[in-house]
Amino acid sequence: MQPRVVTAALALSLALLLLLGACNGGGDALHRIQSKGELKVVTRNSPTTYYIDRDGPNGYEYALAGLLAADLGVELEVKSAFTLDGLFQLLERGEADLAAAGLTLTEQRSRLFPHSSPYYRLRPQVVYVAGTRRPLTVDELPGRKIVVLADSSHVDELTRLRDEGAAELHWEEIDGADTMELLEMLDTGEAELAVIDSNEFDVQRSLYPRLKVAFDLLPDQEQDMVWYLAPGADNSRLQAYIDQFFLRLQADGTLEQLRDQYFGHSTGISRISSHTFNLNMRNTLPQYKDLIRQVAREYQMEWQLLAAIAYQESHWDPLATSPTGVRGLMMLTLPTAKEIGVSDRLDPLQSLRGGARYLKNLKRRLPASIEEPDRGWFALAAYNIGLGHLEDARVITQRQGGDPNRWQDVLERLPLLQKSSHYRKTRYGYARGVEAATYVQNIRHYHNILNWQDISDNKPLPPLKVEDYLPQVLRDTNLSAL
Ligand code: GLU
Repeated sequence: MQPRVVTAALALSLALLLLLGACNGGGDALHRIQSKGELKVVTRNSPTTYYIDRDGPNGYEYALAGLLAADLGVELEVKSAFTLDGLFQLLERGEADLAAAGLTLTEQRSRLFPHSSPYYRLRPQVVYVAGTRRPLTVDELPGRKIVVLADSSHVDELTRLRDEGAAELHWEEIDGADTMELLEMLDTGEAELAVIDSNEFDVQRSLYPRLKVAFDLLPDQEQDMVWYLAPGADNSRLQAYIDQFFLRLQADGTLEQLRDQYFGHSTGISRISSHTFNLNMRNTLPQYKDLIRQVAREYQMEWQLLAAIAYQESHWDPLATSPTGVRGLMMLTLPTAKEIGVSDRLDPLQSLRGGARYLKNLKRRLPASIEEPDRGWFALAAYNIGLGHLEDARVITQRQGGDPNRWQDVLERLPLLQKSSHYRKTRYGYARGVEAATYVQNIRHYHNILNWQDISDNKPLPPLKVEDYLPQVLRDTNLSAL
């Protein structure tokens, strides 16, 4: 092409671009975010998305959005909507650049809003109260009082099922942003069934031990969770950027780590043990809470973690004694008690202090290559099984091509310490690896429930600007590696 023709072609495409920008009113969204130095995200306050805990704002979506803001080199501003309708209105008005709120991809929404590629998969589930009639299919829903979040993807699903003539369906739509309200309604008998996402139920079911999954609303069908972008701007570059960002998080394991961190502890605990925990939390914990808080402060750890360990060890019984002679709230062995200067293991204060000190010692002695938050889980495993066996499990992990510094990888191999084909080749030999794995997962689970209880006791949530706070996960993630 002649230079003049090139110039003319360039000028034409520039004009076209400008025209396009003017038409959709907002210009290039990515450029706007970068030049303003701020990413505005609307979300909803719920256990699976965004909440405030003692370290400040936290949650799966908050962590992801924070990573994106850091990656873009801009600040994050979070707005929390109180209903799904409110959330989409905010987005529509362009008061947020994107919505990150555990949102399902639906046809209707995708007609109105551009969206990212999926970063999570989920299933809508029908939840019921144990002891009442359990429906097994959509055909058994008519006549039952069903609740769903207003404007949620589940309203679409139910409408479609009804229109397809699957069943004469009726349901009540609850204005809100947190599915916990629905579970609360089931628990108090105000409703019989609720439709909520699998990840939401997994995280919250421990607070409602009587609630169970009746069936998957759409059998054999997973749905995509996506971020929606504000319409009215040119989003193509922002969209591409976010898709690339998710690909990178997928490739370097961050997505999986976040999933494990926010949703991973909830599986594998029976309904019975959740129920017992809830009872004990109400009846027994109050007697020891002050003491636990005091010791946790002394050792600079979260009181919920110390309480969770003490529950796993002794069910908060200071006189607990096992057949093997471990005793007290923190179930210390005699040699351990001597080593850390505990003279009376049945004294609750001494026992808690001893346990906290012992855990800190173990944590300090772990290899420096293990980083937080995994380091904390490794220390718990060592508390149960000892550093030597834990090291064996790390060696097996490495031999099998796993990452010995990653809790999830080592957790999967702990049970191998019970198999002779493996423990014959380890340094410290046989160990009850299954028990150690369960031990840590239980503590994470109890810790989570205690956190939740604490947070819901200390509401409400102000909308806030959050660049001063980064949740643990952001502090622990190597951003330069992104
Ligand atoms: N994923 C749902 C939606 O996008 C919200 C959560 C729920 O209702 O379970 O509407």
